[in-house]
Amino acid sequence: MDSIKKRKITTKEYEAVGIDLGTTYSCVAVWLDEHQRVEIIHNDQGNRTTPSFVAFNNDQRLIGDAAKNQSATNPENTVFDAKRLIGRKFSDPVVQNDIMLWPFKVTSGVNDKPMITAKYKGQEKHFCAEEISSMVLIKMREVAEAYLGSPVKNAVVTVPAYFNDSQRKATIDAGAIAGLNVIRIINEPTAAAIAYGLDKRSDCEGNRNIFVFDLGGGTFDVSILTIKGDVFEVKATAGNTHLGGEDFDNRMVNYFVEEFKKKNNVDISGNPKSLRRLRTACERAKRILSFSFVTTVEVDALFMGIDFSSSITRAKFEEINIDFFIECMNIVDSCLRDSKIYKNDIDDIVLVGGSSRIPKVQDLLLEFFKGKELFMRINPDEAVAYGAAVQAAILSEGFKNVPNLVLRDVTPLSLGIEVTNEDIMDVVIPRNTSIPVKMTKIFYTAGDNCGVSFNVYEGERARASENNLLGSFALGYVSGPRGQPLEVCFSIDENGILTVTAKDISTGNMNAITITNDKERLSMLEIKKMIKEAKKYHVEDMKFLRKAKVMSALDSCVYNMKNTLKKKDVNLILSAQEIEKISNAITFAMNLLDKSNKEKKIDVLENHLEELESMSKHLISKTNNFIFL
Ligand code: AMP
Repeated sequence: MDSIKKRKITTKEYEAVGIDLGTTYSCVAVWLDEHQRVEIIHNDQGNRTTPSFVAFNNDQRLIGDAAKNQSATNPENTVFDAKRLIGRKFSDPVVQNDIMLWPFKVTSGVNDKPMITAKYKGQEKHFCAEEISSMVLIKMREVAEAYLGSPVKNAVVTVPAYFNDSQRKATIDAGAIAGLNVIRIINEPTAAAIAYGLDKRSDCEGNRNIFVFDLGGGTFDVSILTIKGDVFEVKATAGNTHLGGEDFDNRMVNYFVEEFKKKNNVDISGNPKSLRRLRTACERAKRILSFSFVTTVEVDALFMGIDFSSSITRAKFEEINIDFFIECMNIVDSCLRDSKIYKNDIDDIVLVGGSSRIPKVQDLLLEFFKGKELFMRINPDEAVAYGAAVQAAILSEGFKNVPNLVLRDVTPLSLGIEVTNEDIMDVVIPRNTSIPVKMTKIFYTAGDNCGVSFNVYEGERARASENNLLGSFALGYVSGPRGQPLEVCFSIDENGILTVTAKDISTGNMNAITITNDKERLSMLEIKKMIKEAKKYHVEDMKFLRKAKVMSALDSCVYNMKNTLKKKDVNLILSAQEIEKISNAITFAMNLLDKSNKEKKIDVLENHLEELESMSKHLISKTNNFIFL
């Protein structure tokens, strides 16, 4: 497999990669122009997806597999699910519910922004969700750079189609903190549709209506697209940014917490270590239940030394999660209704996201689409990154053999304003409108010679206050009697980001906002500070790795030299002085390797390693010419 080897790229900087920044796993892919195909890039552990986990301990920061692997022993400082927090407020009930299930601490920061607390190198640190996501993005960039052998600066990053304006902007901010230029944000199901479209292109002609069902670790999205030749047009999208595999895991965890309580009369729900270990076992059991009808869940010494062993059937798993599965089907139904495409006219139902492997979910879909076969030829874990890589190549200048695709996406939520103080949402751009788009609407002043200000909202509720407030701005004083015409213009760019302008038609006075300075969003100053911090963490990581590498080399050098000195006739080839010198050097090295020795300056370690290696070479050359008895 050529993918594991580093490739030689002549350009100094790689044009752009595609990153699927998932709630539970992330994936990075690149378009290989010379082979005219996408490569899903393996990480340093040889895995094609990387856990979206970041962990902190006394010595270092860990990202990806390394972070997830140590989560049972360090649960309070292992952060995951940052995507569930991104662009949300601390007081959001969804956030409050999640906090109860997480072993790490989340508190309210400035402007109600959720802040994650972790202990790093003995100090308490606070991170916002964008910072944690940026760390995952840095890891994905490094995975790509190791494969490509060149720096990566640009990326297309995917987001759930149902992400709102704040969540999209927060994702762009996470990219900026990671030092990545996010050239485009695209919707996950749309990206998956590209993967489907390229796969299907070889064996199918004509227009196709496809239904993308994307059920991942933390989010659920559905999109209906029409593919007409090279044009991929989204007709409707719907979803829930807080529904996925993690919710199914939680239900199973709760089920077993109750069982443990009944059997042993102890409650483990307040113990993060036990919960983390149980959760890992439950996630594994859930995956097995997609292929088997029953499985066991075993955790040694789960709590107070008590072992836990139980079993769960597929039927029980379905029973405890059936309301979630039904919610998925309701969303499928509402998306179809929005698209005005009849279900018989859907040509393919494309399954994306790890949780789409759950048999009950597939059964309900089959039932809904009256037995129509589900399209499972594309890998549900990789399809999103695949599509993002193609889009990245399309947007970059350096590629010659990129497929000729045009994407037309839609806005997932209605956007509008509350002009007067009547708490009524006046929609300017209805949901599922193709983007980019610009729409204007005329409003009239409600009083004589009055000051006019606007609240901009997104959402489907009739009451403005029940929707999500994106920002407010003032047009200023409008003179004249009540009923003066005001032109309000909403425009949404390719990333789904909104700009609003308003004009007093009689005077020509204008004001505009790109909804960038809403309170939840990071300011340029904060982003700059975080970029600086990210660099600092990177330098610390590199320092730690350099030290760990030297320590390991020193350790194996000591081991080899000690073994040679133990050989019976070593005094025949080495003088007593030489043996003493080597023994002293070994003792010195062992002192350096001693955990209690805090000194361990990197240059002292490196200098001693150099000295020891030259002694080792000398020893090898002498012993090679001698046959030991
Ligand atoms: P994604 O966000 O697409 O990477 O999906 C990750 C989610 O898919 C996690 O919650 C996994 O536990 C879940 N998942 C992966 N494989 C399976 C499977 N075979 N059966 C059920 N869930 C799975």
